[in-house]
Order: sequence, then structure tokens, then C-alpha cells
Amino acid sequence: MGDERVKQAALEILGLFQVLPRLVVFDLDYTLWPFYCECRSKREMPSLYPHAKGILFALKDKGIDVAVASRSPTPDIAKTFLDKLGVQSMFVSQEIFSSYTHKTEHFQRIQWRTRIPFTSMLFFDDEDRNIQAVKKMGVTSILVDGVNLEALRQGLTEFSKNSGAKNVQK
Ligand SMILES: [Mg+2]
Repeated sequence: MGDERVKQAALEILGLFQVLPRLVVFDLDYTLWPFYCECRSKREMPSLYPHAKGILFALKDKGIDVAVASRSPTPDIAKTFLDKLGVQSMFVSQEIFSSYTHKTEHFQRIQWRTRIPFTSMLFFDDEDRNIQAVKKMGVTSILVDGVNLEALRQGLTEFSKNSGAKNVQK
């Protein structure tokens, strides 16, 4: 499936929900892309998981902000890759720094920058300890093995449950 078809499919999924998050936050390594960027060279051309770009475009189309929360020890490589992939300017907040907290500090910064409440955020990450820590802050947090359309659907379902909303299933 190309980016445009994924985007259309993601827009259909988004259309199923009456209540949507205001901000969707993505981890990088093994969430948006299938590698640890610290093990790669800046000179390489990286690639995202197959559905990642289409999902980002669909969220933007819907007016939902996107952000990055990564504990990568090599933010310079991460940012170079986001730039090469043509997505860097899409993120309203890019928190990329190593930390002993399980991303709670990342989310405090994101909240400070965006002024969006934690309960209006949806978060995707491949590490359970991050998911558990960020969930406690009130963010709907979904464990993934690479983000894809199914994870998006699961995340939005979980988000609407947490918001106590009744959704129209078309
Ligand atoms: Mg990761």
C-alpha cells in the first residue's frame, strides 16, 4: 500500500470516532522506523515503517497535531533522519534526549510547549516501561511493534473509551 492509500484508510478509521485526540505522540526507534538510529550513520537513507507516513499525513489532514518523544542518545542522527524522510516539519514538538525517566520528562516538556492536556494525547511506543509510566500521567498509551493502521484503530478505540465517549460505528 502506498502512502496515499494508507492515508485514505487512516482517514476512514479517524472518521469512525466522534472524539479524537488533539495530539498524537510517537516514539522513533521501533515505532516510526524499524531500527535503533544510534546504530546507523547520518549518511544513510532511512525508511519508516510502511504505514507511518500515511498515518502522519492523515492526522495532519484532520487537524491533529503530532509530536516525537524519543530517548535516543543520538538526537542529531534522529533529526537528520526525520529531515531526510521529509517529515521533520510536521512535528509541533520533538523531544529527543536520553533520560532515566520513562519519558515522563518528555511528556512534561511536550505539555509545556503545546498546552494540550495529557488526557487529550495519544501515545505510541514499543517499550512497555514507557507505556506504563506515561499512562499514569493520563495519556492514552499504546504498545506497538511498529505503528500501523491496526495500532491507530486500537489507539483511537482506547482513547475514546478513556474519554467516556459514545462513538458512532459506521
Ligand atoms: Mg522505541
